[in-house]
Amino acid sequence: MTRDCNLACLHCCTDSAPHKPFPNELNREEALSIASQIIQAQVPYVLLAGGEPLTVPHFFEIAEALGRGRVYLKVETNGQIFGENEAERLSRLPIRSLQISIDGASQAVYSKMRPGGVLDKTIFACRAAQKFNLPLEITFAPTQINISEASNVIDLAADLGAFRFNSGSLMRIGTAAKLWERLNLSSAEYEKFYNLLERKEKELKGKMEVAFRPFSIEEDLKSKKSAMPATILILPDGRVRVSGFLPYTCADLRKETLIQAWKECQKAYQNPKISTGFDEILKDASVLALANQLRSLETSDLPVMV
Ligand code: SF4
Repeated sequence: MTRDCNLACLHCCTDSAPHKPFPNELNREEALSIASQIIQAQVPYVLLAGGEPLTVPHFFEIAEALGRGRVYLKVETNGQIFGENEAERLSRLPIRSLQISIDGASQAVYSKMRPGGVLDKTIFACRAAQKFNLPLEITFAPTQINISEASNVIDLAADLGAFRFNSGSLMRIGTAAKLWERLNLSSAEYEKFYNLLERKEKELKGKMEVAFRPFSIEEDLKSKKSAMPATILILPDGRVRVSGFLPYTCADLRKETLIQAWKECQKAYQNPKISTGFDEILKDASVLALANQLRSLETSDLPVMV
């Protein structure tokens, strides 16, 4: 919904930060028009994310329009501006998941990962979700800064009534790619983290799902073998991105309808640049650092990922 955010996290994969919207983001009317096309097309499920989607003034209007259209929703938020009013309002909609990120069990670590962030506000957001029976999902991005608190965050998620704890290896995209040396874990640390997740998965079975497979972007790509996903990724300015891992756009909802854009996505997956781009990531994941340098798939004559 926006690239703008009220935090400036070190591990952000969307290059978000305060006062950093895309130059020409969709306005309320344009966003509502896309929501109504989504309903007409009988799309069953929409994920509203950012940046921080709750900073968008028409966030609730969009969510409520989709909800009235019987579209299931997932909302991703950092929980900094989410309280009981917001939870109560969302609880009237067909919400499948409210995903809140918790990247530290102590304020010291949390705010190192999320400068400007207050852990207590996030916990308050989770309790508000719990009070209004929203299905709560917690995500955790492992780094050198917070890995020592991973186990405590998993326990905290379970205490907060989350139905799922979500993690995996850090994505080398956006701000995270720029700070890679400072953030990325060693293979030995990843192995320890993976073992912890396996242990917690057993320990919390029946209480909370511990989700961490596929563990990395590479594993994800290998399992899908470049197949087109059943999703359409709409950027805050209305352009449609072919994949979150590649720097290509294939349509623009300011110029095309949702159905036309969906056909463009299908066409895009026939373009050899897509399978070559995925192959390049599998050869050398550091090329992911270029994934947010967006350009049109059709007009770009640059070699893949350069
Ligand atoms: S990780 Fe989320 S909360 Fe942090 S800057 Fe990025 S979009 Fe904002």
